[in-house]
Parts: sequence; C-alpha cells; structure tokens
Amino acid sequence: MEVTNDNGCSWVNDLIPRTNIKTINSNEDCDWLIIGAGYTGLSAARKLGQLYPQKKIILVDAQLAGEGASSRNSGYLVDTTLNDGFTSNKELESYKKKTDIYELGINSVKKFINEHQVDCDWNECGKFFASSIPEDEKILINFSNTLSRLGFEHNLLTKEKLSKRLGTSFYNIALHTKGGILLHPGKLVRAMIDVLPSNVSLYENSFLLNWSKIKDQFFCNFKNGKIKTKKIIFATNGFLKSLGIKSNYNFPITLTASMTRSLTDEEFKSIGEPKEWGVLPVRPMGATIRMTKDKRILIRNTAEVHNPFKMSKSDLYKRSINQKIGIKKRFPQLPNDIIQSSWSGVVSRTRNSSQIFEKIDHNIFVAGCYNGSGIGVGTLFGEQIAIKASGDNTKEIEIIEARNKPTWLPPQPFLNLGIKARLFYERLRAQSEI
Ligand SMILES: Cc1cc2nc3c(=O)[nH]c(=O)nc-3n(C[C@H](O)[C@H](O)[C@H](O)COP(=O)(O)OP(=O)(O)OC[C@H]3O[C@@H](n4cnc5c(N)ncnc54)[C@H](O)[C@@H]3O)c2cc1C
Repeated sequence: MEVTNDNGCSWVNDLIPRTNIKTINSNEDCDWLIIGAGYTGLSAARKLGQLYPQKKIILVDAQLAGEGASSRNSGYLVDTTLNDGFTSNKELESYKKKTDIYELGINSVKKFINEHQVDCDWNECGKFFASSIPEDEKILINFSNTLSRLGFEHNLLTKEKLSKRLGTSFYNIALHTKGGILLHPGKLVRAMIDVLPSNVSLYENSFLLNWSKIKDQFFCNFKNGKIKTKKIIFATNGFLKSLGIKSNYNFPITLTASMTRSLTDEEFKSIGEPKEWGVLPVRPMGATIRMTKDKRILIRNTAEVHNPFKMSKSDLYKRSINQKIGIKKRFPQLPNDIIQSSWSGVVSRTRNSSQIFEKIDHNIFVAGCYNGSGIGVGTLFGEQIAIKASGDNTKEIEIIEARNKPTWLPPQPFLNLGIKARLFYERLRAQSEI
C-alpha cells in the first residue's frame, strides 16, 4: 500500500500546480533524513537547514509535499480546544499545559509568516464552539469557567446574536473565544515548501518502503533507490503506525471534508452576508463548519477507523452526501448542488490526546499526533524536534516535555474494537450536530 495524491481538495486546487518535482531514483547519502513533508517535516527541514548550512539534508514524501493532511485540514490555528469542564486543579493544570503548547504553536506560525511575508488568508477572528442542543449550555458554562481561570478572553452567545453573526439559525448556544486564527492551510504549507533552505533536497512521490539500522547508519529503501543517513526524523503523523513508529502509542483516524463553490452574491445575501467565521462542535463528533473569506462553506463531519492509504470514490461520495445534508440543515435556502470538492485526510491520535515528541533511539527522532491542532503544534514540534535532534535545549522543548506523555494502547483487535465503539457512542451523542 502506498500513499497517493488525489485531486479532490479545494485548498490544493486553489494553488498553482508546482513544477520540477524530483523523486528518488538513485542511491543517496546524507547527514539528516526527514520522512514526511507536512508542517512537521517541512518545519524540521527548515530549522535543520538554518542550523547546519554545510550539511546535506534530505526531506522525502510519499506524495506531493504538503498535500497530505497539512493541506486537507479545516484551517483553524487553535489557542484552545473544548473539554467538558475540569473540576480539580490537577486537571486544570494539564489543560494549561496543553494551551501553553498551543500558544507556542501560534507563535511559531506567526513568526514564520512574518519572516517570509506569507499570504495565507490569516484572520484573527477567533472561533465559536456552538451547539443546537440547549442543554449543551452546561458544557459551555463549565468551559467558560476553565477559560476564565486561565485568562482566555471569550463570551457566550445565544441564538439571536449567533444567527446574525453566522447567517444560520441552526445553533442555539455558542461560546466565542477571541484567540485562534482562521487561515488557508494549503497556502501556508506551500509557503513552507517555497522557502526550504538550499541545502535541503526535497524528494516527492517517494514512499519509504522499509528501513534498517546497521551500526551507526540508517538504510532506507524506496521503490527506485536507497538513502543512507546518519540521523533520521519521522514526521509522517497518521502514518507513524504503519512504519512501526511508536505503534503501541498512536493510531490513524481518517477524516473527510467537503467544500462548496463560492456563493453567488444573491445566495450570500440570502444568508445575511456574514463575515468569515469558524464553528467547532461542542460534542466531539459534531460538524466543524466554516465560512471562508471568499464565501465558500467548508464542512467536516466524519472521523473514523478506515484504511489510511486509500478511500474509494464511492466511500468518499457516501460521506459527501452526509456533508451536503449537514450544509442543507444549516442553510436550507441554499441550492442542493453547491459542493465543489470532497476529500479525506489522515491524522494520528493517542489514547490520552497527548502528542508524541521524542528521541526513540540513538539518532532516531519522532514528532506527531496533534489531533485538531497540527497547524500550530506541528510547526512548533517540527522546529523543536530538529533542535532536540541537534543535542540542544530550548524553553519551548522544556514546555513541550512537561506535557502528559501518551499512554499505552491495547493490542489489536481490542484497539480497533475500542475505538469503533467510542466513535459510535460519540456519533450517537452528536447526531443532531452532524
Ligand atoms: C479533514 C481534516 C481537518 C483538520 N482540521 C484541522 C484544523 O482545523 N486545525 C489543525 O490545527 N489541524 C487540523 N487537522 C490536523 C492537521 O491537518 C494535522 O495535524 C497536520 O497536518 C499534521 O501535520 P504533519 O506534517 O505532522 O502530518 P501530515 O501533513 O499528515 O504529513 C505527513 C506526510 O508523511 C507522508 N508519508 C506518510 N507515510 C510515508 C512514507 N512511508 N514515506 C514517505 N512519506 C510518507 C505523507 O504523504 C504526508 O504528506 C485536520 C486534519 C484533517 C484530515
């Protein structure tokens, strides 16, 4: 099984196709090899290139760089994520550790876009956690208490204000956090490719088949060539498990999303011409839905155990029907046939939602598992894993390493049964919110 590109993602299709794509078709030797060219791998390569301008660094990806989950996400650069209320100080402390990492992630992306003057439709408009279920007010009030104790600016909104702001009367209650940014994920990751330092060689459409360590060298096999390296960083996120990396600690989850065409002026008027917004669900399996600055609607309402290497056209179609219904439920006045593209993407999860950031053996490093916060945290972890792999320390590494560590997973088939049962239960709880 190999990871392959498809051309079904609007964020990717918004960009000018890249040229001069190199694949591995001979044997190479390098000082550093990075596997996976999403936010994590690109950020690690950028940082290593700056730290070691004289060293040879190779970055490889199984598909076109950046066109995995890093281009296929919903574009929320998050400062907070919803939990359903923390009661003890200990739990508040672990939530704080999480948000400290989110803050560092936002800073890393901000620094990157300022340094390289990147246009990625950056909008500091915050985000809504919204629900149509009035009883969810309790969850939002608990969350509001947590946010107040940690000093996050936010406010609760009821139906009337929400309908005006969002252009839909679907939601009854929401909490708006001031922090958090909406952006174009494809433009951001493309900029990371464009500014790779000159001592980084990028090889694409080059799937790592297997690798071994002999004495102090790593030997990596690809279809048409091999790479020998002294140090290796794994940045394949949803595909860490399939490469046998930390496989008792992470598992892949497949998400699907759809995006409409831009609404016509008339259609946009019919929903009250709202400014750009992003809604995250209060119940975990509810829909993430976003109005882009160019009047497109994005919806993501699935998360499932699926073969991470491929989703067939018919499977994708079934999920896009669900997304069409999700849009119709919220915007009944819009036509039925406005979805322009649907796609799937793979993320990696751990049991306790903690990220992986580690040296797993001599000269082998790994970073991944960000759930819905990979834009910021992936950028941060990529840069910082490069520094850690160089033998240095930073205040960021100390903060990252103070987080809770991922917990051990049960073996198959218990693992998949457990995940499926949990997702099924969450889906039932969120039925009206999908
Ligand atoms: C639908 C969807 C919505 C999301 N929404 C958000 C959001 O709003 N905000 C947010 O912060 N995050 C979101 N995420 C998560 C976010 O996209 C990821 O956390 C992030 O992209 C992780 O970046 P990465 O570089 O670690 O991994 P990836 O972008 O997945 O990159 C890993 C790369 O490794 C490559 N690879 C895999 N196996 C091999 C191999 N054997 N050989 C060579 N290369 C290999 C892949 O081709 C891939 O390009 C979403 C994800 C999805 C799918």
